[in-house]
Amino acid sequence: MSMLIRGAVACIALSFTIVTQAAEPKFRAIAFYNTNVEKAHQKFAKDAVEFYGTLATKDNFVFESTTDWSKLNTENLKNYDVVLWLNDSAHGEDQKIAFQRYMENGGGWLGFHVSGYNDKNTKWPWFVQFMGDAVFNNNNWPIGPDKVKVIVDTTDHPATMRMPKSYDSPPNEFYQWVPSPRLNESVKVLMTLDPSNYPLGKKATLTGGDTPIAWTNTRYRMLYTVLGHGDDNGVLASPTANLFFEDALLWVGESGK
Ligand code: ZN
Repeated sequence: MSMLIRGAVACIALSFTIVTQAAEPKFRAIAFYNTNVEKAHQKFAKDAVEFYGTLATKDNFVFESTTDWSKLNTENLKNYDVVLWLNDSAHGEDQKIAFQRYMENGGGWLGFHVSGYNDKNTKWPWFVQFMGDAVFNNNNWPIGPDKVKVIVDTTDHPATMRMPKSYDSPPNEFYQWVPSPRLNESVKVLMTLDPSNYPLGKKATLTGGDTPIAWTNTRYRMLYTVLGHGDDNGVLASPTANLFFEDALLWVGESGK
């Protein structure tokens, strides 16, 4: 083989390698949601499916979505690096056990809003500790005003690295937790409701105290945010907040690799 042909073969081989690498997705994600829940929760799920579907092309990951929660089973979860819960959570013992097994074996989870809800009647102790012992205690309702100030606790985390120190969030139903997950030594709080928003809500009012709105329990590859109550103003209407939504999924997805 002449040097020229050898060189050409090497070039072709190299370009094939590059093409193959570029086509390989960074990670695989599946979002679970429900079309039979509160309207504002459905709206966020629908918006989030569109949002992450668009990002999947830009950021090169696989994004699938389903309303079929029976797919939350051990066999199917083997296909994914991240599970998103868009305003719903595991139904029944089988799904709970499959999810627990998945997370304890290095699976990734990005949970929004009511997906993390639990209270004194929740019969799933594993999930409560997974959430950093956070138990729902109170919320703001109705959700206004139009802008809510959020403190970014740290930008020393891949999910918040592009965030400013504080920003105006679209309105949201925030949950306050007792105990606050901040008290759990395994929890890293990423964002918090600015106390200047108190009192927030009318029928149900947050009047003070600690209201973390995004955190990770470092014992797992997980990130939870209470953001995700989607009224007309749209949770995904803020370009600043969207940096967090994007980076949160990229972090959970890529940290498993
Ligand atoms: Zn809500």
